[in-house]
Amino acid sequence: MIEPLSKLPYVGTTIFTTISQLASAHNAINLSQGFPNFDPDPELLRLVNEAYKKGNNQYAPMQGALSLREAISEKIERLYGNYYHPESEITVTAGATQAIFTTIAAFVHPKDEVIVIEPAFDCYEPAISLFGGKSVAMPLEGNDFKMNWSAFKSAITSKTKMVICNTPQNPTGTIWSKDDMLQLQEILRDTDIILLSDEVYEHIVFDGKLHESAAKYPDLAARSVICSSFGKTFHATGWKMGYCVAPKPLMWEFQKVHQFNVFSVNHPLQLALAQYLNDPQHYLKLGGFYQEKRDAFLNGIKDSRFKMVPSAGTYFQLLEYSDITDEKDTDFAERLIKEHKLASIPVSVFCKADYDRKFLRFCFAKTNDVLDKASQILNSI
Ligand code: GLN
Repeated sequence: MIEPLSKLPYVGTTIFTTISQLASAHNAINLSQGFPNFDPDPELLRLVNEAYKKGNNQYAPMQGALSLREAISEKIERLYGNYYHPESEITVTAGATQAIFTTIAAFVHPKDEVIVIEPAFDCYEPAISLFGGKSVAMPLEGNDFKMNWSAFKSAITSKTKMVICNTPQNPTGTIWSKDDMLQLQEILRDTDIILLSDEVYEHIVFDGKLHESAAKYPDLAARSVICSSFGKTFHATGWKMGYCVAPKPLMWEFQKVHQFNVFSVNHPLQLALAQYLNDPQHYLKLGGFYQEKRDAFLNGIKDSRFKMVPSAGTYFQLLEYSDITDEKDTDFAERLIKEHKLASIPVSVFCKADYDRKFLRFCFAKTNDVLDKASQILNSI
């Protein structure tokens, strides 16, 4: 037997896979991994079927089907007032995770530092490590997960190559304001730091607030690779379809890597998505759709012993349980699955630093019957 020298010795199976398996072994309601338990719009499924039948079943161009890149360009210009050239500044990817991985592969050299705002989605750190970089954790502060911009400024060194930010934020459900973006822009001004802006929940923002894309801020946009996801926006996480945009010199470096690790992604799906994107209502109504689910879930548990600040974006809601038990979040999450048949994600798994703020993350991208059942369980604890 060969014992390979692991490049990721400390990495195990992702928490999403582990918890989902435990949930199914215990027949628990699964509000852990973030995915809808309902299908995409039948109209989109019809367009996909049509695209397969029309014989578009060979390779798409490396950057993505031109019609989809044009539709993405129009959407971004309409929403955020910044023009990305379909020929040279947009790439369609196999989901946002691939876009994020490829961005890190393209720009992080050995010994470079990458600032990661924590709690953070789990795919950033292993990719940084794989390419010899060092991730520098920047914790969000307090139970409302606020950014400390002066601490952020102090964390920047001559080795900082990249900053990874994520608004709306997974797992906290917080969003950055215009003021946050302006602070970020000001701190990064006069540096050559690249911003990897994970904006996969861009269309899931609540209570009349606006998504603050890095694309809106010229000095940020000039240094940003912005990643987005069709899976989140169109209820199709299983399609693994996403895209990223960046100014031409950054995008060319991205594509040099992309062409050898992916080459191009599912062609019929791209053509269908291009047509579906023509109607902005298909993504503009998403915030209202998920806000109803958030409210139904929170209303169902308002008399429970969990404490909550309503999620401002994403399809995740954090619940704080310090009035219920002193258990570590990983232990409490496991006990919830085994004894109460309800699966969530303990927030400490999104942190490198020691973390014990007693929060669990629940995904509310579920039909109301499932949310009702979950509420009843939470009320009984
Ligand atoms: N983005 C999803 C979540 O946060 C999970 C994606 C995955 O399993 N890699 O739950």
